[in-house]
Amino acid sequence: MMNYYSTNDHNNKVNLRTAVMKGLAKDGGLFMPEFIPKLTKDFFQNLSVYSFNEIALEISSRFIEDEIGETDLQSIIERSFDFPSPVVWLNEYFGVLELFHGPTLAFKDFGARFMASVMGHFIAGDSKELNILVATSGDTGSAVANGFLGVEGIKVFVLYPSGQISNTQEKQITTIGKNIVALEIEGTFDDCQRLVKKAFVDSELKSIHLSSANSINIARLIPQTFYYFEAYKNIPKGDHEIIFSVPSGNLGNLTAGLIAKLMGLPINKFIAATNSNDVFTQYIRSGKLNTRKSERTLSNAMDVGDPSNLVRIMELFENKIDLIRDVIFSESFNDTQTLQAITEINSNYNYVIDPHGAVAYLASKEYIKSRDHNKIKGVILETAHPAKFSDVYELIKGIEIEMPSRLKECLTKDKKSIKLSSDYKEFKDFLLQKDN
Ligand SMILES: *Cc1c(COP(=O)(O)O)cnc(C)c1O
Repeated sequence: MMNYYSTNDHNNKVNLRTAVMKGLAKDGGLFMPEFIPKLTKDFFQNLSVYSFNEIALEISSRFIEDEIGETDLQSIIERSFDFPSPVVWLNEYFGVLELFHGPTLAFKDFGARFMASVMGHFIAGDSKELNILVATSGDTGSAVANGFLGVEGIKVFVLYPSGQISNTQEKQITTIGKNIVALEIEGTFDDCQRLVKKAFVDSELKSIHLSSANSINIARLIPQTFYYFEAYKNIPKGDHEIIFSVPSGNLGNLTAGLIAKLMGLPINKFIAATNSNDVFTQYIRSGKLNTRKSERTLSNAMDVGDPSNLVRIMELFENKIDLIRDVIFSESFNDTQTLQAITEINSNYNYVIDPHGAVAYLASKEYIKSRDHNKIKGVILETAHPAKFSDVYELIKGIEIEMPSRLKECLTKDKKSIKLSSDYKEFKDFLLQKDN
């Protein structure tokens, strides 16, 4: 059986079920698999003929082993991934991996839907209601909420920073209803994350059966490895340097890519793209971690001042900064550069990229400056549909974006949220109220 240990204590090990249902270890650490399974030569030889779901089954069964039977796992996968993840090639060298074809138009649908299904599987038959807490800087909230929508025995509280996410994102969170409660926090995303983290280690909240659904949950990380394999299928064979550029915030997406590499996927370099919230870029440069308050940017799902998955990356590379630098290049870009990149991609390639993908594009361009272009095959992760950021495109002339119908629909509904300050006591009292 695969065990999961806490990043705060390697001797604190639990099974997958506990890791998924707790989210965070008792000691405040994040769960990590005790080893990274290696895929067989055979698997890689046949990769090009495997479907996304076949890849998902092969990989997830290595992490889940006998804790979920194969038939159940197969139906979890089928339920979770009923949308495509195509690579659109901009030119000979660069392709865009579109991860926004899920129900909430962002890559977080991959993790959120898989996690919701796995949790639903684990709690089937329990008598106590499960309360999920999720802090969001934009897209997590709607993805998680959507994944759990209508799941029996589960209530979801989505915490988001008031006035700091786009109107569209707010509507997506506050118009769902049913078992989803939107909590509008007067503070930053980091405040939201702090409230959630504190609640988990608060023994006085034991009675209300809390669980997490942030990118820290291991059941969200595992499915994010799948699309790296799927994208790799699309890369022409040859003697190339293969790079994946990842728009990064809490570093869950990047961590999943690194795990895919450690499982054997031959990716040469990861480009960790950050916006002005460049804590990770500075860490790669200096080897020192200086967390700080996040600031608001156009690519707001990356507005993170204390990236939660960094400890996992440190674990994967035994805390050795040189090993981390061998596989990760990082660069940061501001909003002005982001807007220019959107325009550049549109006029050069006739492709509309979202602000997060634009930052990833810029970082990959920076990386190849000092390289032989002809040897590169690069994949840019496009993490959200541009229509989610219609306010950004109002700043740019001449780019039309089409609004997908499911987005149009939720924009017409009324917002429903509960306002709270960023004070922990107030949050805790709210949680302890019955029938909230
Ligand atoms: C969450 C998010 C990111 C950042 O991903 P992390 O895994 O937190 O690094 C990037 N782009 C979009 C659109 C997101 O929603």
